[in-house]
Amino acid sequence: MHLRIFSLLAATIFFANSFAQDRYDTIIRNGRVIDGTGTPWYEADVAINDDRIVRIGDLSSASANQVIDASGLVVAPAFIDPHTHALRGIFDVPNAESALLQGVTTLTEGNDGSSPFPIDEHYSEIEDLGISPNWSVFVGQGTIRSLVVGSEDRDATPVEMERMRTMMRDAMEQGALGISTGLFYVPGSFTPTEEVIELSRIAAEYGGIYISHMREEAAQLIDSVNETIRIGEEAGIPVQMTHHKVIGVENWGASVDSLRLVDEARARGVDITIDQYPYTASQTGITALIPQWAQEGGNEQMLARINSPETRQTIKNEVVAKILYDRGGGDPKNVFISRNSWAPDMAGKNLAELAIEAGKEPTPENAADVVFDIIRGGGATAVYHAIGPDDVDRIMQHPATAIGSDGPVGIFGEGAPHPRQYGTFARVLGYYVRERGIITLEEAVKKMSSQTARRLNIHDRGLLTPGYFADIAVFDADEIIDMATFEDPHQYAVGMKYVLVNGEVVVEDGRHTGRRPGRILYGPGYTGN
Ligand SMILES: [Zn+2]
Repeated sequence: MHLRIFSLLAATIFFANSFAQDRYDTIIRNGRVIDGTGTPWYEADVAINDDRIVRIGDLSSASANQVIDASGLVVAPAFIDPHTHALRGIFDVPNAESALLQGVTTLTEGNDGSSPFPIDEHYSEIEDLGISPNWSVFVGQGTIRSLVVGSEDRDATPVEMERMRTMMRDAMEQGALGISTGLFYVPGSFTPTEEVIELSRIAAEYGGIYISHMREEAAQLIDSVNETIRIGEEAGIPVQMTHHKVIGVENWGASVDSLRLVDEARARGVDITIDQYPYTASQTGITALIPQWAQEGGNEQMLARINSPETRQTIKNEVVAKILYDRGGGDPKNVFISRNSWAPDMAGKNLAELAIEAGKEPTPENAADVVFDIIRGGGATAVYHAIGPDDVDRIMQHPATAIGSDGPVGIFGEGAPHPRQYGTFARVLGYYVRERGIITLEEAVKKMSSQTARRLNIHDRGLLTPGYFADIAVFDADEIIDMATFEDPHQYAVGMKYVLVNGEVVVEDGRHTGRRPGRILYGPGYTGN
């Protein structure tokens, strides 16, 4: 009797084991697997249990609770966006359709020197909200400096330096991915390189990285690349030149030199990498046209300088120069207002049109007056068409370049934003890979997944391999494309069929399911576990 029970039990255990091996929560069948390493695609099935990939291979004899037929489709690790401004939009749109419908399942905030702070409170807020994608942040050097030094153009005192170091430590221990700077923006623009190096050393101690919107991306681009390399070298920290580009027609072609500097730095052991968005226009505040010295001390002081007869003409000359040789791309009609809370009608109009509406000729001088009026009214965000297209191609082909959007979460129908938030990843796959052959599909997937995961120290995502989290994008390589244009930006990308986040289907047949399985991805120094 005892023996019978025992053998029955053994048989049951054996049966349960073999059952577990052949039945999975989900199988994605018959797809072309592009695993994120850059290896050429191969045909295979992908099995998932709970939130992890458990097997890849011929699983035709296995069964699953849920089967996704990927015949004719690419199955890839879902995409990781290393540079977003997703704090804008995520609380309105926690489903983040603009990202998910491109296969992006991890959003990184806190770029350009500006981040939420403190980091632990921010992470709790996102967790309470519940969102579809995974989420992580850098700590912003500009944010820390604003809290300690303000927006004055001066060095930090030793006491202030110590406070900033402590804040940096706290941020890393609370799970920041590293330190971001926006040395182009106030107060980053007032920060000496040595101060950035000091704080970056702390991020490095915790295994973090340095990601930078550099001091200048037009005539002084090469100086800025050298500064970025120096920070990496002296702080002993991996660095990423974010949204690398060349602004201003006169400077186009400078990526030949910038990429050479990257290669030389890498050759001598500086771990420098790049990310970029695939467009020839940028988007930032209208104050990008105002010289930084005129922005010192904040908005009121800037307005006082614009309104003062003593400084007004000097500022105006510099705005005109920026329209002619820098971000304005040589003509006021290249600068479009994208978002303007106090005069929403302005969205979509360019500075030439706004000058004409004000009864003036569309000259750079009159456009400068329009800029002053916009700042007096309360400011605006603008799109600047001034990035060299050949530089975009060249930067994309560099092996150290990853893809990032620099965009917020799309709030459908609001304003006339840069289309990158809806289109970046689909545009690389559709326009740069399929239509123009600038890079291969396998390279593109790698630049959107494993390369960024490695860079951000996310060690269990970004590849299709057993044991890794099941963040997976299934798309039609013949169909995927961005639909959002500068004229008509509020359009989701097409061609993304299924997207899984932590094993849950968030996009099904090209539609968002409403699920919100996104998690916080804590940085390498996190001590909260
Ligand atoms: Zn930026």
